[in-house]
Amino acid sequence: MSFEWNSILEKFKAESANVHVWLEKSSAFFDEDANRILIEVPSALHKKNLSEKYIDEILKTVKAQTNDSISLSIEIKKPGPSKKEPEPKITIQQIPLPLDSKPDHIPYLNTRFRFDNFIVGDANRFAHAASKAVAEAPGQTYNPLFIYGGVGLGKTHLLHAIGNHVFENNPQTKMLITTTEKFMFELITAIKDSKREDFKAKYRTIDLLLVDDIEYLQKSEAAREEFFHTFNELYNLNKQIVATSDSAPQDLNLEDRLKSRFAAGIIADIQTPNFETRVAILKQKAKELNKVVPDNVLAYIAEHIDTNIRLLGSTLSTIIALSLQMQTEITTDLAKQALKMTNPSFEIQRKIGIDHIQHVVADYFNIKVQDLSSRKRPENIATARQIAMYITRNLTDYSLVQIGQYFGGKDHTTVMHAINKIEKLIKTDEKFKTQFEELVTRIKK
Ligand code: ADP
Ligand code: MG
Repeated sequence: MSFEWNSILEKFKAESANVHVWLEKSSAFFDEDANRILIEVPSALHKKNLSEKYIDEILKTVKAQTNDSISLSIEIKKPGPSKKEPEPKITIQQIPLPLDSKPDHIPYLNTRFRFDNFIVGDANRFAHAASKAVAEAPGQTYNPLFIYGGVGLGKTHLLHAIGNHVFENNPQTKMLITTTEKFMFELITAIKDSKREDFKAKYRTIDLLLVDDIEYLQKSEAAREEFFHTFNELYNLNKQIVATSDSAPQDLNLEDRLKSRFAAGIIADIQTPNFETRVAILKQKAKELNKVVPDNVLAYIAEHIDTNIRLLGSTLSTIIALSLQMQTEITTDLAKQALKMTNPSFEIQRKIGIDHIQHVVADYFNIKVQDLSSRKRPENIATARQIAMYITRNLTDYSLVQIGQYFGGKDHTTVMHAINKIEKLIKTDEKFKTQFEELVTRIKK
C-alpha cells in the first residue's frame, strides 16, 4: 500500500491552508498491523487544534490515499536523544496514552497494559507470576526472563505491565522499553551517524531492559552482535533483562551463545486461554469500555474466537460500535455480524447452535428468547429454560460452564440441576416425554 505523507501535505498546501499550517511540522508513520497512521506534532496546541477541528478532513484525505478503514492518531512528538536529528521510527507497537498520564522519560511505555487488568488463567499463570516477581525485584529473581507465545496472547501486555509496575514503585529505576525492531533500527542509525558510543551508553547503563519481539534478531547479524554484548554487560552487573518472542529460544534461528544466554534465566510460555479465561478477559474489556454486555453474548464471542486475545478485544469493540451505530441491543445476532467483520475465517462450526435451540424452545413454549437467559422464575419459563439446557447438553458439545454462560451467566451447578431434573421428568412423566420428543424433532429439522 502506498502512503506518502509528503504528497498528502502538498495536497493540503494547495487546497486547505488551515490544515497545512498545523501539519507543517508534523511527521507521520504508518502502523500496518494496526492499520493506523500516527501523526506526530510539535506541541499540545497542535494536537488540540488538529483533533478538534481538522481530524475529519485529514482522515478523508488519508483514506483516499490508503484505505477506507484506516484510523488516525495524533500525538505530541517526543524529543529524541539528540535534538537536531529526531529519532527515526519504523513501527509503532502501541498507540501511547495521552501524555499527562505517562512517564515522559519512558516514551514507549504503554500505561494501558497493567497487571491489574491482566486476567490470569492456566495458560498464562506462570508467565504472569514470573513477570510479577521480576517487577517486584528486578535483577534479583529471574534473570533474564524470557516470555514466548503466539500472536495476541499477552506478551507485550506483560512486558509493559512490568515496566509500569517498576515505574510506579521504583521510579528511580533506569529502564528502557523497546522493540527489537526499534533496537535494530536505532543501531543502524547510530552506526550510520558514527554515534555508536552513544548507543552503547544508552543501552548499557540501565537497570532494566524490556525488549519486545526478540525474534526480529534473526533478521540482522549486527543487531544480534550488539544485543549479545548489551546482554552480557547488563547481566554481569545484575541488571534485569526481559525479552518476549514468538517462539522458544531453542526454536529461534540464533547463535547458540545467544540462545544459551536466554536459557540461563527463566523461560515462560503463554498458551491459548481456555473458554473461562476468554470470558473473563471479555468481561474485563467490557468493564474498561464501560459497557454491560450480556453473558450469553460474551460466551458467544469466546466460543468463536479461541486463539487470539487481541481479536477478542477488537470483536467486542466492534459489537459495541455496531450497537451504538444501529441503536440496537447487544445480542448474539449482533455478535455474529461483528465476528464476520473481525474474523474473516469465521464460520458457524456447529450444525446445531445454542441460538437455534433457544429459538425453537422459546417458540414452542411461546415465550421470549431473552426469557431463557433471564432469572425469571414462573414455572413455564423455568421449565423451558431447563429443557433448553438439557437439549443443548445432549445435542452439542458445550460444557456445563459454557451452557451456563449462554443462559445468562448461570453457574454450572444450576445447569447440572436442570439436566438432572429434566432427565427425571422424561423417565417418570409420559406426557412430558412426548412433548420433549416433539421438541427435539423440531430442533433437529
Ligand atoms: P502479544 O504481544 O502476545 O501479541 P498483546 O500483549 O499485544 O499480545 O495482547 C493483545 C491484546 O490482548 C492486548 O490488548 C492485551 O491487553 C490483551 N490481552 C492479552 N492477554 C490478556 C489477559 N490475560 N488479560 C487481559 N487482556 C489481555
Ligand atoms: Mg506483542
